[in-house]
Amino acid sequence: MELDLRSIILLSGIMGLLLSVVLLFLRLSYPKSIRGLGWWAFAPTASFVSTLLFAGRGQIPDLVSVVAANGLLLTGVAMFDFGARHFFGLAPAYRSRMGLILAVLPALTWYTLVEPSFTARVLIVSLLWAYIQMSLAVLIWRHGPEVFSTRFTVVVLLIHTSILVLRFLSAWLPLPDEHLLDPTRVQTLYVVMNALFVVALGVGLILMASDRLRVLLEYSASHDSLTNALTRRSFIAACEQELERCRRHGNRMALLMLDIDHFKTVNDAHGHQMGDRVLTDFVARIVPLLRRPDQLGRFGGEEFVVLLPETTQEQALVVAERIRAVVAQPAEGLPPITVSIGVTTNRPDDDKVDVLLARADGALYKAKAEGRNRIAVV
Ligand code: GH3
Ligand code: MG
Ligand code: MG
Repeated sequence: MELDLRSIILLSGIMGLLLSVVLLFLRLSYPKSIRGLGWWAFAPTASFVSTLLFAGRGQIPDLVSVVAANGLLLTGVAMFDFGARHFFGLAPAYRSRMGLILAVLPALTWYTLVEPSFTARVLIVSLLWAYIQMSLAVLIWRHGPEVFSTRFTVVVLLIHTSILVLRFLSAWLPLPDEHLLDPTRVQTLYVVMNALFVVALGVGLILMASDRLRVLLEYSASHDSLTNALTRRSFIAACEQELERCRRHGNRMALLMLDIDHFKTVNDAHGHQMGDRVLTDFVARIVPLLRRPDQLGRFGGEEFVVLLPETTQEQALVVAERIRAVVAQPAEGLPPITVSIGVTTNRPDDDKVDVLLARADGALYKAKAEGRNRIAVV
């Protein structure tokens, strides 16, 4: 089959442009906290423009169709890297990447205008390209979650990097000094792989971004927006799971029900906004007292629940007392508060979370009745 390389290059550029449009759309519609999409959107555009320049070989000056085109191509690759760094919340390495690219431009100019050598240019460009791409693959592998989109993107980058290395090595073969658009085998493989690469990388990045979106949405659906504690529904689901585990393995679990004392007076005396700050600070002070598997949920306005897996009543009382004491300490800039806590643990015949919650609620009621700022057990 005869492949017209010029058409393939142009077509791959157009596909890259379409991916730019998709990524740009994601950038506009996804939450601002998903960063880097702008860089990812403009990277294929840079490739596309470099493609146009490459395709113009013979019709426009070599300085543009070769030197500038290669510079732009490498810049496009670097833009994928900048985007990935933003995406993972890291400082982008603008200077070091662009410094490397600018540093090779004089050499490319030399091997284009003064001592024309396709082989030398291939060596320079494919080596730098492979380097930037390899470090991008390592970055995504290190910082990405262990999900399909991460693996897919890394594999795409690695496959294409091996092609670049192959091309780098092929430059040492005693091939005649070929032209980019010559349909030799190495050229054909290289050009076709580039075309596939742009599409596959774009798809991988789009998958990574939508994975990130899914995580964000799941988080906001299961967490209270003011305090970041679990919502009532997610907390109950976590309790049900734990209760099931207790039934199977005969484990213990404890439940604490917390209610801030006279919280209405905080709102009345200091305003609702200050009340909100007190609630946020309340949760922020409790979280460090909990272990990894413990869960904190917000049940209503100023009422919270804590699930302590694999915890006996004595251990639960220690945790409850720690919470009570920390909350009773004055916080800077906030009105003083105290908390009452009801404690309960699972019993062999407990098969519903509601039963446990009702017991914890009963214990809380007892703590309130006994004078508040205290712990009661049922
Ligand atoms: P007790 O010691 O018996 O628990 O008294 P209390 O005042 O804390 O109890 P009550 O249930 O009467 O009042 C709870 C108050 O919590 C009433 C409501 O205005 C306030 N509240 C509920 N949700 C929020 C919220 O999200 N922000 C703020 N600032 N206040 C809230
Ligand atoms: Mg209260
Ligand atoms: Mg209350």
